[in-house]
Amino acid sequence: MTEKKAGQCVCPFCETEVGEESWPFCDICKVTVLCCPKCHKSLSREDRVCPHCGAAIKE
Ligand SMILES: [Zn+2]
Ligand SMILES: [Zn+2]
Repeated sequence: MTEKKAGQCVCPFCETEVGEESWPFCDICKVTVLCCPKCHKSLSREDRVCPHCGAAIKE
């Protein structure tokens, strides 16, 4: 299993890494990608707490 690079958020729709310049916006899908500020994994819009690391998500 390959670990994703830390500090990179991956778009859940196209699985492309969202660059720091465009973050949190995916240029390919034209959607805002929600990512955990701590572990940088993608979140669903309803998540208040990261399901991966438990960090609180800011609105
Ligand atoms: Zn995308
Ligand atoms: Zn997290």
